[in-house]
Amino acid sequence: MTAKIIDGVAVSTAIRTEIAQRVVALRDKGVTPGLAVIVVGSDPASAVYVRNKMRACAEVGIRSFKYEFAADCAPEPVLDLIAELNSRADVHGILVQLPLPAHFPIPQILQTISADKDVDGFHLYNVGGLVVGDTVFPPCTPYGVVKLLEHEGIEIEGKNVVVVGASNIVGKPMALMLMQRDATVCICHAKTRDLAQFTILADILVVAAGKPNLILPQMVRTGAVVIDVGINRLPSGRLVGDTDFEGLRKKVSYITPVPGGVGPMTVTMLLANTVASAERMSAR
Ligand code: NAP
Repeated sequence: MTAKIIDGVAVSTAIRTEIAQRVVALRDKGVTPGLAVIVVGSDPASAVYVRNKMRACAEVGIRSFKYEFAADCAPEPVLDLIAELNSRADVHGILVQLPLPAHFPIPQILQTISADKDVDGFHLYNVGGLVVGDTVFPPCTPYGVVKLLEHEGIEIEGKNVVVVGASNIVGKPMALMLMQRDATVCICHAKTRDLAQFTILADILVVAAGKPNLILPQMVRTGAVVIDVGINRLPSGRLVGDTDFEGLRKKVSYITPVPGGVGPMTVTMLLANTVASAERMSAR
């Protein structure tokens, strides 16, 4: 078997074209969607992510506003800014780029963002929405994975899904979103004993652990669908996911590459959430 390589760049481009059309429709009604991005400190990886998000906004016609704070600033000015952005009519989405400096109370920062503008989907209200199946903003990375599966016409209902990784931003929301779509879901994490005994059962395997070569061909069943969320930079500088891509592609039916799989979808779903927010606010 040779796997179909899921082209996240192509799917992403198609979704961004639709988003740009929705932005035009909003502008015709006098509304320009706006995303506020708050950055604290000067983490180089965060700077790249923020630049990519703002560039992607510009490409589809979303206005973005960037607010920068020094790494040693107190949390209060950031909390005050979030409160101000919550009440601004030209801001439809607010995101605080993580990680934050250690002295920042991340839960308090995230809970201060209005649930109606929480386009990252990290506010407790939105997390609760995932549990009951009524999400305002699905978190961007798992949302992107669902869109990739839908785009490929991969059925989720009734499938055995194994999610490797149980973080709040990827693994847990991923599991909840797939459970809402009637999959039978198992979540594995670093303390799971004998990972392979779970992964071998997966019709759809989603891996988000941040460990290169964690998933080897003998750990997956022939014909499985493999979604590799991991992003790891090897000492050589090469970017790889969490799976043995070359080994797996000879055994599975679908696989996402790294880079070019889930990565581009994450920013795309941020754009989708921001436009959805502007549409909801303009309909009020
Ligand atoms: P994280 O917060 O570090 O969580 C990693 C999860 O993987 C944890 O639940 C951890 O288990 C589990 N894990 C670690 N080693 C494991 C092992 N050997 N076997 C099974 N599970 C293991 O990371 P994250 O933020 O979820 O990100 C995960 C990966 O996805 C990273 O490579 C990150 O760069 C990437 N990522 C990609 C995108 C994208 O757009 N493509 C977006 C976000 C993240 P414990 O809970 O037991 O510690």
